[in-house]
Amino acid sequence: MTDLRRRVPRTDEILSAPALVAAASRLGTRTVKAVVASVQEQVRQGAVAPEEVVSTVVGQLPASATSLRPVLNATGVVLHTNLGRAPLSEAAVQAMVRASGYVDVELDLGSGSRATRGRGALAALLLALPAAESALVVNNGAAALVLATTALAAGKDVLVSRGEMVEIGDGFRLPDLIASTGARLREVGTTNRTRLEDYRDAVGPETGCILKVHPSNFQVVGFTSSVGVAQLAALGVPVVADVGSGLLVADPMLPDEPDVTAALRAGAAVVTCSGDKLLGGPQAGLVLGQIQPVSQLRRHPLYRAFRCDKTTLAALEATLTGPVPPVWQAIRGTRAALRKRTEALAVAVGAEVVPVDGAVGGGGAPGVPLPGWAVAVPAACAEQLRIGATPVLARITDGRCLVDLRCVPPEADLALTEALLACMS
Ligand SMILES: *Cc1c(COP(=O)(O)O)cnc(C)c1O
Repeated sequence: MTDLRRRVPRTDEILSAPALVAAASRLGTRTVKAVVASVQEQVRQGAVAPEEVVSTVVGQLPASATSLRPVLNATGVVLHTNLGRAPLSEAAVQAMVRASGYVDVELDLGSGSRATRGRGALAALLLALPAAESALVVNNGAAALVLATTALAAGKDVLVSRGEMVEIGDGFRLPDLIASTGARLREVGTTNRTRLEDYRDAVGPETGCILKVHPSNFQVVGFTSSVGVAQLAALGVPVVADVGSGLLVADPMLPDEPDVTAALRAGAAVVTCSGDKLLGGPQAGLVLGQIQPVSQLRRHPLYRAFRCDKTTLAALEATLTGPVPPVWQAIRGTRAALRKRTEALAVAVGAEVVPVDGAVGGGGAPGVPLPGWAVAVPAACAEQLRIGATPVLARITDGRCLVDLRCVPPEADLALTEALLACMS
């Protein structure tokens, strides 16, 4: 015991090894020291030879200074909330890296004077949405909604259809959110049917705005009716339309998904949505609308509290101006193209190909299947895939683990093949 203790190399000696000096500059001294301490303990217990300390430390260091681990999304669900919703395009990633140091986010380099924060992202939004007169970017869709209802209706009524009193996910309930803004929620109509007269009867001097929320994560079918933005806009109070997913213009693949352009054309004063759902960009909340109401939001003190980061602004701009983001590549992935990749994977691992439906997810387009293919492996593989060197998230259906390539970038097919071979051997 004493002998082993004497043979444990000293901490400063270990840390001065070139490989660990480099590791400390990449991961931080504290992280490297913690691993060194643990390996020294392993030497004391006789599990590691003293001359192998440095190489053992190198082997036990974390891969990155962040504990977040990249995973392969083989669930077929494009916007998976637990997996961070939209994966960014390479252009957006590069933009974030470029914006991560000192940048002219709020400075005009020509004149040396202060400039509008995130003006590049705002210009890109207005270019993508000719129907919008003005735009703002905040941290997320919920913040955009809170800002809109607070600025337009604090101390007043917000009229909302009973059919739109929704929980969007993760306990985010619309009524609670509105209550937190100091506006009074006034429900109109019933769960399944709300008519224009219901709104008209409720509009009065106390009305701050009408809120039209897209119930994005469920469908009500049968004896239903609701009132469109155009009819509401004619009632003479500002209409806030929360379209949720951030679809900028109508898309034939998602016929029931409301889009920002249509809501603006119909006369909404303000339209809010997320940046990291169907837009395929970074987490953000977008506010688009008419000049006067949007500037009312911009002047509200809460806007400062919801202000987003320079790297978000950079990624948003790159998503809007750059190539088709991964979210849309996945949604548009054709059965034929998916079949080819899926069959190659199935042959490589000796498994069967089965038809599956993927989904948009993230509380979007609940009724829209995305037909594709999956490799079916034993259910027991799901856990091994998840905890493997390259974590793979698959789906379990009917007692089988289904690996869907829709949201897996083709360049990761090899890594996926290896992960599957490892768990099937
Ligand atoms: C997702 C969603 C929100 C919330 O947006 P976050 O960006 O998640 O904060 C609000 N309203 C609707 C209709 C949504 O679909």
